[in-house]
Amino acid sequence: METSSENCSVKVAVHIRPLIGDERAQGCKECVTVTPGKPQVQIGTHSFTFDHVYGNGGSPSSAMFEECAAPLVEGLFQGYNATVLAYGQTGSGKTYTMGTGLKEGTQTGLIPQVMNALFNKIDTLRHQTEFQLHVSFIEIFKEEVRDLLDSVSVNKSVITNGHSGKVNVPGRPPIQIRESSNGVITLAGSTEVAINTLQEMAACLEQGSLSRATGSTNMNNQSSRSHAIFTITLEQMRKVHSVSPDNDTPDEDMGEEYFCAKLHLVDLAGSERAKRTGSDGLRLKEGIHINRGLLALGNVISALGDEKKRKEGVHVPYRDSKLTRLLQDSLGGNSKTVMIACVSPADINAEESLNTLKYANRAR
Ligand code: ADP
Ligand code: MG
Repeated sequence: METSSENCSVKVAVHIRPLIGDERAQGCKECVTVTPGKPQVQIGTHSFTFDHVYGNGGSPSSAMFEECAAPLVEGLFQGYNATVLAYGQTGSGKTYTMGTGLKEGTQTGLIPQVMNALFNKIDTLRHQTEFQLHVSFIEIFKEEVRDLLDSVSVNKSVITNGHSGKVNVPGRPPIQIRESSNGVITLAGSTEVAINTLQEMAACLEQGSLSRATGSTNMNNQSSRSHAIFTITLEQMRKVHSVSPDNDTPDEDMGEEYFCAKLHLVDLAGSERAKRTGSDGLRLKEGIHINRGLLALGNVISALGDEKKRKEGVHVPYRDSKLTRLLQDSLGGNSKTVMIACVSPADINAEESLNTLKYANRAR
């Protein structure tokens, strides 16, 4: 077997949350079951197998970090980019799973656990390696990128990519996705905060989450229709000894190794296509607006996952949305990708849960 298929793999996990207050109050029944001892999920007559299943009789959520995110953090130190995506309808637990909420998941969410693991590892390597960490936190809404760290005041620099010459800007120019000649994707015009401590990184997560929540009050339900992307960039400078026969000047034989890798942690827009109206209980199609990022992401991930297609050199449609464009250098290739499909177990959500499991199944 080729090793490249391993490198390129996209892992898919399902996270089934418990019934929540609202659903209990309505007397909902659970309609999602897990085959004991297997990462297999049933809903109605449908059955799907994934890499991991958490909740509802599957593994406990506490295993999710170790199995899904810890290997990606390890990979960062070896220079591999990575992406974790939380997919699912609004209310399915994406924000809880990622830990991008303000109150909940601030300890148990994946991002807080990633930050802990990252700093623990850095502490064990500090004596031999110099580290530089940056974070950015942006939101993509209607194909426009919004900076969630705009108002963070410490350690911040705006990446301008050499376009800092023009100073005729009342208000900031739009953030642009750029690709360098070696395929590295950067966001021009977004805030990159230099991070020295775990506390500083946690503050950025909180600031951005707050900014996301506040921004959404004026725009109807914006936060459930936008993708939030928290990105950690890790740069490493490692001193390398080259053994010299002449011991008098050891310092002159020190070389340096440089690695740079990033980890994107993505709380995707709600995947629902129809929304319930509050008052009259009618279900309305939300126009023909299906989120372009989610469509493109599904196509990209299924192209990456299909080994036969990949061997035939099938085109991976990264350019079809801002989301996939931004993640381009961290999806596929040598990078590691984990999608966590979040579902509600409640029977009233059966249709959307089935859609989510089908989408996730395509990614395998
Ligand atoms: P989404 O971000 O997909 O819209 P949320 O993360 O906001 O969904 O979750 C919706 C509700 O469900 C919240 O009230 C949250 O507290 C609850 N919830 C989600 N996942 C879990 C879980 N694993 N355990 C307990 N409650 C959860
Ligand atoms: Mg959410």
